[in-house]
Amino acid sequence: MVLGFITFRKFAVISITGGSCSLNCFYCTSKYISSMEGVMTPETMHKYVKKRYEMGVKGFLISGGFNKRGELPIRPYLPVLKRLKKENPDIIFNIHPGLLDKSTIEELKDVVDIVDYEFAYSPKAFQSKGLSGRSREDYLKVLEMLIDYGPKYIVPHIMLGLPNDDVAESIKVASSFKPYLLNFLVFIPTKGTPSQVFKVPEVEETVKMIELGNRLMQGRVSLGCMRPHAIKDKLDKISVEKGLVQRIANPSPRVVKEFNLPMYDACCSLPEEYLEYFKL
Ligand code: SF4
Repeated sequence: MVLGFITFRKFAVISITGGSCSLNCFYCTSKYISSMEGVMTPETMHKYVKKRYEMGVKGFLISGGFNKRGELPIRPYLPVLKRLKKENPDIIFNIHPGLLDKSTIEELKDVVDIVDYEFAYSPKAFQSKGLSGRSREDYLKVLEMLIDYGPKYIVPHIMLGLPNDDVAESIKVASSFKPYLLNFLVFIPTKGTPSQVFKVPEVEETVKMIELGNRLMQGRVSLGCMRPHAIKDKLDKISVEKGLVQRIANPSPRVVKEFNLPMYDACCSLPEEYLEYFKL
């Protein structure tokens, strides 16, 4: 059974840097984080989470822009998140951390439940980030540290369809760490960014890579929230029909209807043990 996910009333998405990011990925240029709720100091974080929690929000995706080294500046927020977790043990935090160092990863362990880790290890994914003082290998090292020292649920996110990219190696490498789940995103040529001149990725090519992930991960694969509208109906339908994924974020409404997908109000990386509360 494929599960559908959408963030609605029980899951909030926060940017700790508002709309600012020191990187300039050609498919984003800070566009995506600008649409998230900006919670930009530890004090506001405490107030915001507490208030939302009282209103029934139990999950928080903590994201934001990165510095030039590809790190989310999360450290000052960790004491507050720890306190919130102590006050409300059923709260769920997941995080888009970027390339954090070992001691911050160790600190995340008791605070954060899920790590949505953008695994920009393929040549074009790495190149498109324009990082300073980093190499592709850093994505590997950080994945290894997250698995060895970080929170229980690590979900590498791999973007498919970047122009002239080859992601097969990324998929093989990420799967070899046996993460809880492997998530696929699909490149969106986005209006108002330099990516708008590129073509929408071919469904067939995308499916081939998802099939590879499915095989190597024994099915523990999800389709993430970033997918071009133009291919969503077709890609989601094939993914459900062929049983290529276990979960789909923001599934095509047609596919939800046709296959009667059970829906959850959360990020698609939510571990099974928490699913019940988030059922729509
Ligand atoms: S919905 Fe899925 S793909 Fe999107 S941020 Fe959450 S975990 Fe990642």
